[in-house]
Amino acid sequence: MSRCNVVVIGGSAAGLATALLLSQDGHAVRLLEEERLPECATPLEAFELWERRGSPQSRHSHAFLARLHNAIKNRVPRLYQDLMEAGADTLRFSDMAREVFDEAELIPEDEEITLLACRRITYDWVMRRYVERETDAVYESGVQVRGLLADRDPSTDLPRVRGVRVQRDDGSEEEIEADLVVDASGRNSSLREWLEEIGTEPFTQESESCGIFYCSRFYRLLDDAPTPAIDGPIGADLGYMKYAIFLGDSRIFSITLAAAPSDDALREVRRSEVFQAAATALPSTRAWVDPAVSAPITDVYTYANLKNTLRFFVRDGRPLALGLYPVGDSLVHMNPISGRGCTAAWIGAELLTSALRTHPGDPLAFALELDAGVQRELVPWYQSMREQDRGARETSQLTSEGIDPFAFQRPDGTIDPKGYMRSILRDGLMPAMREDIVVLRAFMRVFNMLDAPSDLLTKPELMQRVLAVWQRREQREPMQLGPPRAEMLRHLENAA
Ligand SMILES: Cc1cc2nc3c(=O)[nH]c(=O)nc-3n(C[C@H](O)[C@H](O)[C@H](O)COP(=O)(O)OP(=O)(O)OC[C@H]3O[C@@H](n4cnc5c(N)ncnc54)[C@H](O)[C@@H]3O)c2cc1C
Repeated sequence: MSRCNVVVIGGSAAGLATALLLSQDGHAVRLLEEERLPECATPLEAFELWERRGSPQSRHSHAFLARLHNAIKNRVPRLYQDLMEAGADTLRFSDMAREVFDEAELIPEDEEITLLACRRITYDWVMRRYVERETDAVYESGVQVRGLLADRDPSTDLPRVRGVRVQRDDGSEEEIEADLVVDASGRNSSLREWLEEIGTEPFTQESESCGIFYCSRFYRLLDDAPTPAIDGPIGADLGYMKYAIFLGDSRIFSITLAAAPSDDALREVRRSEVFQAAATALPSTRAWVDPAVSAPITDVYTYANLKNTLRFFVRDGRPLALGLYPVGDSLVHMNPISGRGCTAAWIGAELLTSALRTHPGDPLAFALELDAGVQRELVPWYQSMREQDRGARETSQLTSEGIDPFAFQRPDGTIDPKGYMRSILRDGLMPAMREDIVVLRAFMRVFNMLDAPSDLLTKPELMQRVLAVWQRREQREPMQLGPPRAEMLRHLENAA
């Protein structure tokens, strides 16, 4: 296969994955990263010193889904070993199922449902060392991309990108030529302006708020303390607040709390003592933040203005430019509570590598094949997250208006389909995950991006199982995922 000179803009999750996979295919990769991070001998040191201004979410909780875990383990086993040696661990469905069911009937495929437990800084630290040590890719820090170099392609009349303009942190400027430029510069990418400068058609995107702000805090398990059990999905939605537990490396874990940006009372959880009170009030996180079990090692990190965003690089069968494609958050990003970003970045890098393998000398065919892969493999996740967030916002709006969002019998005897679906999710799917291993397995496969998002509620045999549990809803106590909002607020006020 012909060797391409590739420039990757951004040396974070997507850039590192792209550089790794392209170098494995024999391409010459230069990875340009504007931030200059201090050299660190261990991930623990990196956690102390890496501010990550260019990727502030790296300081937040991160889940690494089974799809990513399996890809690294099978495709880059030495990198997997490095992650484990750096203190990363795994979170297995089989262990979780044994916590939930007395006699869990496991099947061999359950081993596929294994998450990587690791802090994001550790992941990036290990990935970067691996790329620098084991591949020919060159990681250049302190290099900010300022624009694109392009000519016009005579056969398609599209701009043909042939490199980038950069400024180094010593102030010097340079033009770097490349056969292919990959934009992995994250959600705040300047791609739109860069494309405008080279005269492309207007760059379009759709973007809407996830309807939450995010607060994460890291804790370390005390030396003699056993790890509390994980006996179900690592997070839940209480309607007024979402929460999740994220297992990291080196006996460190984090908890994330998320709520509507307009909810001033809940925004108080950004204060450490209030956050601790909230985590103590939640049944699933209580055992984790017990001072006899763990101690906090950070303050609370916050992240606001979260969005689901999809950018369109190919329109009506024509890419905006040849020799360029975005990956990672620059292409698509979604509500982080789903933990999909780094897995989606890896999938994007795989799709890009595969399209280049198939069409090394044909930039138009490369872009079209890559875009078809993105539509098939990534866009359904974005769409399903956007729909879920719209639903969550509606539920919370109805609750705040004093309307029961789970009621579905209208006074005239007809059924409100949205209320019906909400009821099935709350009183069917949620309890079914604790009563029926087949449902828990199906949920976890979708959660981990091993099966398509539509696989959960469109399979008739699965729906029958969920409905069977839903029909018994009157006979069981409602699931207590957390206290009602008023009680939670009392806990927070006491702590404040
Ligand atoms: C609060 C929060 C929590 C999250 N939790 C999870 C999770 O649990 N699991 C998960 O998988 N994902 C999670 N995500 C998503 C995940 O963090 C992102 O999907 C991931 O960081 C995307 O990687 P990226 O490389 O595309 O972009 P980024 O990580 O944002 O990196 C972009 C890089 O490009 C560099 N850069 C920018 N501009 C330039 C330029 N002009 N020249 C050179 N370099 C440049 C930046 O310095 C940075 O290093 C979360 C996101 C948020 C916001």
